[in-house]
Amino acid sequence: MYGVLTLSLKITNWCDLNCAHCCECSGANNPTNFMPLTRAEQYISEFQEIPYHIMQHYTISGGEGLAPYQFGNLEYIPTLLSCIYKIGGIPTIKTNGVWGERYNTRTEILKSLAGSAYFGNKLLTLDISVDEFHNNLKGVANIVADVVQSDYLLPAIRICLVGFNTDGTRRNMEKLRTQLDDRELHSEILPNHDWAVYRDDGKGMRVVVDDEQEVHDLGRAKQNNVYTATGKPVGAYVNCLSIDSNYLATLNYLYTEQIAGRKLKDVMNSLLRQIEQNGK
Ligand code: SF4
Repeated sequence: MYGVLTLSLKITNWCDLNCAHCCECSGANNPTNFMPLTRAEQYISEFQEIPYHIMQHYTISGGEGLAPYQFGNLEYIPTLLSCIYKIGGIPTIKTNGVWGERYNTRTEILKSLAGSAYFGNKLLTLDISVDEFHNNLKGVANIVADVVQSDYLLPAIRICLVGFNTDGTRRNMEKLRTQLDDRELHSEILPNHDWAVYRDDGKGMRVVVDDEQEVHDLGRAKQNNVYTATGKPVGAYVNCLSIDSNYLATLNYLYTEQIAGRKLKDVMNSLLRQIEQNGK
């Protein structure tokens, strides 16, 4: 295995959307079953002991990575972020952005996230899907607009829009830009696909646009041939060790091991042996 290793904590399998292509098989009918914070802290700490080129980027994902707020647990994400910041980590949170449609929820979440980022003195990134499968453009436009229009949020929060290399994604990205116009923001596409989004006084931010992902695997839609989802190929430069709330560790979306009662570095060694045996 080449490259660097990043840690992703899948804190829940609950999500308010039920996308047919979801390769996490997440959905609104799943229990929230949040990963206990003590375990999350233990994984983050043990990750430091892995003798590999670890990357100080930590991902909080799901399901819906910001679900704790939506269930009234306002301390869960700030506590987890504080733990990541304490070891010098840089956090990314994966979210569908639908909560951006609700003013009170949006205001509460963005203010809380920015507070954590100021506490850690490092940026926090929101990784939001914008493609042909998620009906979330209104929420995402509200989130981008709130961040760009606020002198408090702007230095603390960055946004990455993730889509597929498809016409459907490109169409929805354009629709999103139109919705930003409606919110009196200006946007320009930069040479590498990223956007510059700014307001009348010239203040603004670079929105990272990652719309090059191939559609090459099937999620639960495989069962009824509805549509497709992604899975990352093994051997990419950035390797991902994902841990879910059911004690399952997965390397590069492919190799899995139960982690209960074991040290993370032992699990990692075992996963690497699986890769060697498969010649990848
Ligand atoms: S693809 Fe994303 S938004 Fe859709 S159900 Fe899965 S986790 Fe939720």
